[in-house]
Amino acid sequence: MTYETVIGLEVHAQLDTKSKIFCGSSAAFGGDPNEHTCTVDLGLPGVLPVLNREVVEYTLRLGLAVGGDIASVCRFARKHYFYPDLPKGYQISQYEEPICTGGSVHFVTKDGREVRINLTRIHMEEDAGKLIHGDELGDPKHSYSDLNRAGVPLLEIVSEPELRNPEDAESYMRKLRTLVRYLGISDGNMQEGSLRCDANISLRLLGNEKFGEKVEIKNMNSFRNLRRALEYEEKRQSEILDSGGVIHQETRLWDESAGVTRGMRTKEYAHDYRYFPDPDLVPLTVDRKWLDEIRAKMPELPDAKSRRFQDEFGLPRYDAEVLTAEKELAAYFDRVVVTAGEEQAKTASNWVMGDVLRLLNEQKIAIEECPISPEQLAKMILLITDGVISGKIAKSVFDAMAESGEDPETIVEEKGLKQITDTDAIGSVVEEVLASNPDEVEAYQGGKTKLMGFFVGQVMKATQGKANPKALQEILRERLGS
Ligand code: ADP
Ligand code: MG
Repeated sequence: MTYETVIGLEVHAQLDTKSKIFCGSSAAFGGDPNEHTCTVDLGLPGVLPVLNREVVEYTLRLGLAVGGDIASVCRFARKHYFYPDLPKGYQISQYEEPICTGGSVHFVTKDGREVRINLTRIHMEEDAGKLIHGDELGDPKHSYSDLNRAGVPLLEIVSEPELRNPEDAESYMRKLRTLVRYLGISDGNMQEGSLRCDANISLRLLGNEKFGEKVEIKNMNSFRNLRRALEYEEKRQSEILDSGGVIHQETRLWDESAGVTRGMRTKEYAHDYRYFPDPDLVPLTVDRKWLDEIRAKMPELPDAKSRRFQDEFGLPRYDAEVLTAEKELAAYFDRVVVTAGEEQAKTASNWVMGDVLRLLNEQKIAIEECPISPEQLAKMILLITDGVISGKIAKSVFDAMAESGEDPETIVEEKGLKQITDTDAIGSVVEEVLASNPDEVEAYQGGKTKLMGFFVGQVMKATQGKANPKALQEILRERLGS
């Protein structure tokens, strides 16, 4: 039977604030176990949480970026459950009154489809600690708790069930990562757990309006694993439904090495958590003036940048999307264009998307560490357009710049890579080549015009690729009498 897949994601982004959400403990990653703790995040009795203003500011940045409705008053709620990494016995979260509702995230798929996914809500909450099981420490009988992460601020971003395939779910998540990084509110590192997601997925018969029963998958720590887990689950559910079975709501874990999801527990419902407003925290009022100040300081966002690259520079949408996926890459490209001129934008895009990204990949470095500055790349592009070097020679100039960090002019000068445009000089090499290949000349003149490539190749070989290709073609045609 034919099913339609329905996916909704609950993404957690860890905020890059200096301190935790309700106390002054450091929110930095790592540290010795329990080094970043105090009476509040340890859950000792008699102490009170105080909301970190920076957490609210970061949240508002994202809320504005996705075009959500910012509540003028919102509240924190206690979500109760027992686990040894949760010392208070409840997590402070938001429930009935989140700070932001609605808004949307937009992305372009690899095959050029534009997708817009609506958000249900964004709310603030605290992270829990982490358990270290004793076998890792040579003592299988005990488990230890490290509360460094307890109280670290998180945003939960809940999407509507509008995603229709695993690939789009991955693109959506990537776009969220791009956004939080542009806004400077989270590093979006999935391996370190600063960006995590629970994926809800169900199938329904194609054409049906009613959603099927959903399953929630946890524990996917990379974009690839998110997609793989969803693809696996799509197949598993369709096989159950095909054989007349039913899907039960449950929470499943992704097992990366086995490539399967496994049932972990039956789904818990909101009422199981006994939510109620946290009486230790006053309702949060978001002052409109403050909101306006934050709005005024917002950076140019990826969608606006991508549109600008398309409109101002005439870049294809695909190029614009790739170049704006990282703020730093976009800034690099922008600087290349400023130096080389807007007419060079497409050429610059080809170099950045091709050779520069390849270089970063090979050296496993970020664009900020690129040994070739945007100005140097721009100058190299201008050397090509001015006819000083050929496009082919430019590849070796690029490699030399990557190695030495020197300016392209210096490299061209030192290595004698200047293109030969002098027609007399090219002409004499052409004469030599024709004289030493009389058979080919005869064949060419007898109609085998494909041999043009052979002659070009011979001259290029003799000049180490420095003959100006256009001038060379003209001279060859003239001397061969065609
Ligand atoms: P729950 O009450 O189980 O927490 P919610 O309605 O709050 O469910 O939704 C949680 C997440 O699951 C949201 O991201 C939502 O888009 C998604 N979701 C809801 N229903 C479905 C469904 N039938 N199939 C897939 N995803 C769903
Ligand atoms: Mg829910």
